[in-house]
Amino acid sequence: MSVGATKKLIGEVVVAAGLGNSPKMVVQEVDSETKLVVEWFRPGQFYDKVYSSKVFDFTPNNMLLPKGKIYGGTRYNLNKLPDEIDQMYPDYSISNVDYAIGFITRGCPNKCRWCYVPEKEGDIAPYREWQSLIREDSNKLILMDNNILASDWGIKQLESLSETNIHIDLNQGMDAIRLVDSAIIKLIGKLKWILFARFSCDTMAQVDKLCKLYKKLKALHIYAQAERGKNIVPTKEQKRFQMYIYSMSYLKFSFEDFKRINGYK
Ligand code: SF4
Repeated sequence: MSVGATKKLIGEVVVAAGLGNSPKMVVQEVDSETKLVVEWFRPGQFYDKVYSSKVFDFTPNNMLLPKGKIYGGTRYNLNKLPDEIDQMYPDYSISNVDYAIGFITRGCPNKCRWCYVPEKEGDIAPYREWQSLIREDSNKLILMDNNILASDWGIKQLESLSETNIHIDLNQGMDAIRLVDSAIIKLIGKLKWILFARFSCDTMAQVDKLCKLYKKLKALHIYAQAERGKNIVPTKEQKRFQMYIYSMSYLKFSFEDFKRINGYK
């Protein structure tokens, strides 16, 4: 990234936890093109502009942000990045992550009532080839696809990745319902995972399938996503289901037995 061409500083804020995500790094790329100095936001510094992005509406606001910040992301509005910005390759030079990150598909065919994805991105559609996402200095690729197994394009890209030494993480989880297909199970076993294969799991039908899969693939991580969002709070039953999943009790008990053993009525 170009630095020092002017004395101006532009900061960007990471409000979402942990991951550097590509829209934010795209902003850095845009500003590096204009020869301005870009850095991560540090409270107490003077900046000409501060960019803030946030995905979830339950993420707390950063009270240290100055007035006049430029903000974006689903938390604030459903605007999409302009194509010419969206197509830019992220500038990883000021991030401290050792992986590439991006999407192979966008959208989702489902319509979970708490989720903005269908409204913002529409039905699932091809978005990128994996070759355009990877870094030369890393064999790790984190994919943030919402529902990659619902896309033939997504599956073909995963098949292609399985022939490489690239280690991936599908950090939004895969839909267990699609695992009825033995070819998909085989593909998941062939892919190289950074940590483990992640699945989302909201129903007992999915649990039954995942239990069978667990016997074949031990490196599994299962999400139980309770409904959550503006004016939507998880029910007690959903929270118990999450505990049932995250304690891995599903390997030993039915959900009904789990509730009985723990005294839940
Ligand atoms: S499956 Fe996931 S991405 Fe699709 S609508 Fe539901 S929560 Fe959103």
